[in-house]
Amino acid sequence: NMCVSKDLEFFYFVQQWPGSYCDTKRSCCFPLKGKPESNFSIHGLWPNFNDGSYPSNCNIAQNPFKPSKITDRIQRAQRSWPSLNCAGPKKTANKSSDNTMFWKHEWDKHGTCSGSLDQHEYFEVALNLKDRIDLLQILQNKGIKPDGKFYSVVNITQAIKQATGFEVGLTCNSDPSGNRQLNEIYLCVDKSASNFIECPILPKAVRSCPENVEFPIF
Ligand code: 5GP
Ligand code: 5GP
Ligand code: 5GP
Repeated sequence: NMCVSKDLEFFYFVQQWPGSYCDTKRSCCFPLKGKPESNFSIHGLWPNFNDGSYPSNCNIAQNPFKPSKITDRIQRAQRSWPSLNCAGPKKTANKSSDNTMFWKHEWDKHGTCSGSLDQHEYFEVALNLKDRIDLLQILQNKGIKPDGKFYSVVNITQAIKQATGFEVGLTCNSDPSGNRQLNEIYLCVDKSASNFIECPILPKAVRSCPENVEFPIF
């Protein structure tokens, strides 16, 4: 087609707090294997441009998600990249999420635009990034725990800045009573997907948190 493509300039590495995804009016579902661990998990690794715009759905027709390409990474992905959306197999007694559908969505929308990374490398790189920064431990070291209490966004951001050197973006969502809660944490990664960097620009979604946010139990 006539698309003019430019090279990606960096990645957002986005992690979600499962307690916040689940503590909403829409609720959530667990994967067939059961409740994920009480830890941040991967939402996605998203190629981006420095002006805040981003490519999506690049070449899905030629490069569709194939589960068989990540069979050797399934166990790690089940642990670090679970889906909590109630869109899984409908025939089971209880509704469940479908990890593979989530991974397919993230690969198709974002992974296909990640330049030189093939599907196996894309998942490998994201899983490795997850293991390099333990956000929950960093927060807990400063007394910021998923206990349903409220914490200052400044303290959360400073704890991560002190431990990693980088300013993060936070997004918030609402629990069923309308309390704002810590939903996602954005870190940035260079275009080779090998080093964390200071974010060239924070996404629009990060203006969604008030001064104090709930950190829900999961
Ligand atoms: P994005 O927001 O990355 O474009 O899309 C996320 C998509 O993946 C949505 O369609 C959402 O329903 C689906 N999804 C499945 N599981 C999850 C999950 O655990 N967290 C999030 N944020 N989205 C999920
Ligand atoms: P999407 O278009 O990504 O499916 O959903 C838009 C928004 O609704 C996102 O913030 C996503 O995290 C949230 N969302 C989508 N599906 C679900 C769900 O099943 N449960 C919860 N709690 N949030 C969802
Ligand atoms: P939302 O509108 O819920 O913030 O975002 C929906 C989806 O759009 C995200 O899950 C992600 O797939 C994509 N998205 C939103 N903001 C950005 C961004 O700043 N950069 C990139 N690469 N994707 C984004």
